[in-house]
Amino acid sequence: MANRWGIPQEVEDFVKQRDTNCVYCRVEFSEDNESRKTKPSWEHIINDIRINGIDNITLCCMSCNASKGAKLLEDWLESYYCKSKEITVDSVASVVKNAIANPPNLNKITMHNNGYQ
Ligand SMILES: [Zn+2]
Repeated sequence: MANRWGIPQEVEDFVKQRDTNCVYCRVEFSEDNESRKTKPSWEHIINDIRINGIDNITLCCMSCNASKGAKLLEDWLESYYCKSKEITVDSVASVVKNAIANPPNLNKITMHNNGYQ
């Protein structure tokens, strides 16, 4: 079972438990549909949808997701958006710090994708 982003169900469940705040700006998520800014959205730290383990899949707020877009994490952290919100390598969630220190890669998970392109 995978959701529409190709994220395995067990990864989705784990990440929903872990990431109750935006992994970047740390805003607390709410289920309140009125405040889109605090709605969680699926985020690949490394912008490669094939890397869909818990070290690359996270939840971040709509604002951060929209700002980061297709930028490399390292480049995005230098952006005006991050600077204005004081989002730095030191302020982000540990899953993001780990991804910076030890980038998730495809080799680790290709065994799960045999026969699947
Ligand atoms: Zn955010």
